[in-house]
Amino acid sequence: MELNEINPYVLKVMPSAMRKFDHDISVDPKIIKLTLGEPNFNVPDHIKQAAIDAINDNKSHYPYYWGYQELRDAASKYYRDKFGYDYPADQIVVTVGATEAVAVTVKTLFKPGDAVIIPTPAYPLYDASTTLNELNTLLVDTSDDDFILTPAKVQKAIDDHPDLNVKGLILTDPNNPTGVAYSKEQIAALAPVLKKNGIWVISDEIYGELTYGQKHYSISEYLPDQTIIINGLSKSHAMTGYRLGFIFGPSGFVDEIAKVHQFTVTAAASIVQYAAIEALEHGQDDSKPMLQEYEKRRDFVAKEMTEAGFDVVHPGGAFYVFAKIPVGLHMDSWAFVKTLAKEYHIGLMPGDPFGDNEYVRISYAASDEALAAAMKAVKQLVADHSVEPT
Ligand code: PLP
Repeated sequence: MELNEINPYVLKVMPSAMRKFDHDISVDPKIIKLTLGEPNFNVPDHIKQAAIDAINDNKSHYPYYWGYQELRDAASKYYRDKFGYDYPADQIVVTVGATEAVAVTVKTLFKPGDAVIIPTPAYPLYDASTTLNELNTLLVDTSDDDFILTPAKVQKAIDDHPDLNVKGLILTDPNNPTGVAYSKEQIAALAPVLKKNGIWVISDEIYGELTYGQKHYSISEYLPDQTIIINGLSKSHAMTGYRLGFIFGPSGFVDEIAKVHQFTVTAAASIVQYAAIEALEHGQDDSKPMLQEYEKRRDFVAKEMTEAGFDVVHPGGAFYVFAKIPVGLHMDSWAFVKTLAKEYHIGLMPGDPFGDNEYVRISYAASDEALAAAMKAVKQLVADHSVEPT
């Protein structure tokens, strides 16, 4: 048996460089990590109790593969109230986190060889998903437009590749790693070019509830027939380990996605689905105290990084600051994070795995003490390592 005889598309996908870096720096007992996108809040008690009750009540049988009716009814109402989504329960599939939701949607919508636009910097899951499904990935750099995908950029990507059958776009709003949240106008402006070119949008709105001083708008409002929304409870309810996500989309298409989901994972875990019902029926305000904390921390980190000489695009959502490394350091993102980890015991994410090697990502889903220590270390690194630009 030769390893190189297995599916070449699997061999093409690299294990997550971010998780490896996070793992490698963890051997340092002094390290303070602002690396992973993990809320530093616990699951609210009433949700934990619902999970415990489900165990004690023996809710341990195979759930219906779409997800329990009660959960899909609750999701229909919750997301309508929050963001105006317009989907009844029979257009909603319950998945094992947003990750599985993206994977089964990409698998269902596209044929091998189709091309999918991924605006960069981007969450690495998307490129892995398109590659595993033998698609062509069209990376479109948004850094010169303040990390917003514009209609002109979409049209140019299509025009520049007449040989490719461009069928999809994976949009993340609010964005990981930049923290940028689209305005209503920016979202609406994308709809005509996508409609004209018959492009599906996979709209990853997992951070939709985490916006600061602005509302979240879903592109599904403007393109209901060609949008699949991805959402879930990992960020809004700090339930990352529970693994619970949702797909919302047009009838017929979601039925096909549900089939792929069934033959991939059968269903999301029964206990977790009961916890999710509680989260959606009684946890409408669970994210509020988290949001207040995140907003304070965002302001602190953005201010400190700017003072340290980094360029920061104002983050309107999620819990990340994406900051451009000062040229005077002569460091790319890997050199920067490795130096910061080795000499100052602070872990940040390099921008490179997201597609931009001039930036670092700070996750501010961390304690005030950790953030203060990190900002002090970043300033110290800049003071110690700056070289006059040549
Ligand atoms: N989408 C984005 C943009 C993310 O940042 C993440 C996690 O960091 C996910 C999806 C994964 O979400 P889940 O934990 O629900 O699989």
